[in-house]
Amino acid sequence: MDSHIHVKQEMSSPVIDPILRIVKISEEDKQTVALVHNAPIVSSYNDRIRPLLDTIDRLRHLKIMQEGIQLPTIVVVGDQSSGKSSVLESLAGISLPRGQGICTRVPLIMRLQNHSNSKPDLSLEFNGKVVPTDEENIADAISLATEEIAGKGKGISNSLLTLVVKKKGVPDLTMVDLPGITRVPVHGQPEDIYEQISKIIMEFITPEESIILNVLSASVDFSTCESIRMSQRVDKTGQRTLAVVTKADKSPEGLLEKVTADDVNIGLGYVCVRNRIGDESYEEAREEEARLFETHPQLSKINKSIVGIPVLAQRLVKIQATIIVKCLPEIARKINDKLSANLDELNKLPKNLTSVAEAMTTFMHILGNAKESLRKILVQGEFDEYPDVLEMHGTARLAEMLNMYSEELLSEKLAENKENFLLEEIKILEETKSIGLPNFLPKSAFLTLLQKKVNMISAKPFDIVEKIWNYIENVVISVLLRHSDNYPQLMSCTRRAAQNLIDKKMQQSIDWVNDMVEMEKLTDYTCNPEYTSSWNKFMSHQDEFMKCINSQHPSVIRIDGFGDVNVVHLFSLKCVVQEAFDVKMRMTAYWDIVMKRMVDNMALHLLFSIQNLVKKEMQMEIINELVGPKGNGLERMLEESPSISEKRNKLKKSINLLKESKDVVANIMDRVVTNFD
Ligand code: GDP
Ligand code: MG
Repeated sequence: MDSHIHVKQEMSSPVIDPILRIVKISEEDKQTVALVHNAPIVSSYNDRIRPLLDTIDRLRHLKIMQEGIQLPTIVVVGDQSSGKSSVLESLAGISLPRGQGICTRVPLIMRLQNHSNSKPDLSLEFNGKVVPTDEENIADAISLATEEIAGKGKGISNSLLTLVVKKKGVPDLTMVDLPGITRVPVHGQPEDIYEQISKIIMEFITPEESIILNVLSASVDFSTCESIRMSQRVDKTGQRTLAVVTKADKSPEGLLEKVTADDVNIGLGYVCVRNRIGDESYEEAREEEARLFETHPQLSKINKSIVGIPVLAQRLVKIQATIIVKCLPEIARKINDKLSANLDELNKLPKNLTSVAEAMTTFMHILGNAKESLRKILVQGEFDEYPDVLEMHGTARLAEMLNMYSEELLSEKLAENKENFLLEEIKILEETKSIGLPNFLPKSAFLTLLQKKVNMISAKPFDIVEKIWNYIENVVISVLLRHSDNYPQLMSCTRRAAQNLIDKKMQQSIDWVNDMVEMEKLTDYTCNPEYTSSWNKFMSHQDEFMKCINSQHPSVIRIDGFGDVNVVHLFSLKCVVQEAFDVKMRMTAYWDIVMKRMVDNMALHLLFSIQNLVKKEMQMEIINELVGPKGNGLERMLEESPSISEKRNKLKKSINLLKESKDVVANIMDRVVTNFD
């Protein structure tokens, strides 16, 4: 359970947490109540808390929050005119701008510090500067600073303004005063003022490290307060919400009942106060407040442990200490995590190269890595670098494309027209017949038929070659770019080299396909015995086929490898049919061999060509492009790219900040252990 939740059990009950343990609570309660004015609110207790608060203030000043590390903060929220500024004023013992409309237009960090000098010391910190001021001029100084930060007019801003109040007797407290919540824009305010303000407020109260000081006017129904709704959104149980009820003097009726009923779930409890009115001095205001709660018929019934500004101060100081002690270990851990993550990232950034030799080494290293990646992807079939990117599983994709090519080629014969069985062969035979013996198949008939068939499929090998090289180009470029992504200067030239080389390789493959196609057309040859055996198999049906043709029955006949074939159109042609049947069966047996040869050769050719690319050509091409006669790539590598140097500077800055913060925290953690345990 969070220790600060228990603070609701008013001050008389002993509170168990590392800091509060050393405090004599009951002693202090008496002291607190006795503190009416002038006498310091603070005690030796605060001196122990001071270093803790200083630590958090240091961290805030270092802007550790920019690193996404939240700091424990007391955030003051309240509806407009609920009395926020008045409460802060009472705590600080100074006058803050008050008036119509929103006076607070930027988050105001109020850092109250007790100091021994009886002369107060006030200053404003904003936009990186420190502007000294004094009690008379503080209101104007804040207005001026607000104008400088948020512009003139009534707009609001979320950049910070810090007011440091060093004054004798003030509690050591740091709080953030936020713009008051307003539903209806007053004249001159932007239309979306409500959205703007609630965004800033939510930003401050959402972190678990924030304590919400909810300022409520005694004159309103708490459950209708906008600020209650907001804090309930981020702190449902109210465990980090404390309520301050102002204007007790104006609406004393039923106040006791309201704070006892606790209809709005305030986990840290209520404190009722009466702020400075009109031209009263701070001291007069405290006297009046004390008198009011002492003598007023209704207000005097409220337990003294929950009334008055001094009690509020005391409560806040304790809550603050508790939350800081609670948060410090986590802050230390976050700083460490962030620091090591940033150091890691910095180490991973490419080195800033200072000589051509260094650039050469780096370049060769990149090249070596890229070559190894390509070898894995395109040759070995190892995909550890891209486990989930199917596109980069090169060997598998290549096999897929080749399979498709082979299926397309082999399915070609199925497309033959079954209605015109043998007609083509007969036509060619008639055109190639010469004066000579019958039953003597002319070679030219077969060749003519072969050439026709090869022409019909010849686009396919060209297509596959193009498809595969386009795929390889994508893979190669993406691998090269990945390996040179720290050196954008290298990218354009490696990309160019890759494109040039792939263009060349594709042209070589096209030339090779051309030769292959021409060779197939030139002559018919195979040493594969499968040819003879399948031709024999086909021819074993010839007798049966001719019997059917001669007897002109039946009109449809089943032929192995061709299925049911209509033969009526052949009945009148008899003599040439037998030869045509023979030609067709030879062609069928041979075409199978040709297709398989084309697939096998294509696969071997591509594998050979890709291996050469990966193993030597790629490297040579890139080196030539980068350091060849036209290249000045190595010189260009010496200039660090702006994006990298920007990243490096940002990381270095953040690392310095985190290191400094780490020291600050380490320092206090040692003291927490020795002092507060
Ligand atoms: P803010 O808008 O929440 O900052 O509210 P202010 O602090 O500016 O207060 C709004 C008005 O309420 C001012 O006129 C204050 O003088 C007045 N006010 C604040 N607190 C008290 C109080 O405890 N008693 C009385 N009578 N008036 C108060
Ligand atoms: Mg205000």
